[in-house]
Amino acid sequence: MTGDAGAGVRVAFHDPIGDGVCVLVVPLGGKAGVEHPGCDALADLALDLDAFFCPRCHRNGRVSGAWCRDVIEAGAG
Ligand SMILES: [Zn+2]
Repeated sequence: MTGDAGAGVRVAFHDPIGDGVCVLVVPLGGKAGVEHPGCDALADLALDLDAFFCPRCHRNGRVSGAWCRDVIEAGAG
């Protein structure tokens, strides 16, 4: 076996606006999102805005869209 198919990709990063550490989650075959402290929903990425937004807790955070694309493409490959 090569790689860990089924797990997808998870990479932690620090959101410079909000508190704590967030995690960019790239599920295999699924839509990427952001886990964030204090909420069990996955925030939506807005790559062109270098941002993410959670419809449940209304967290509006910052993350590099270019970095996310790299991670997502690596995870999708
Ligand atoms: Zn949230």
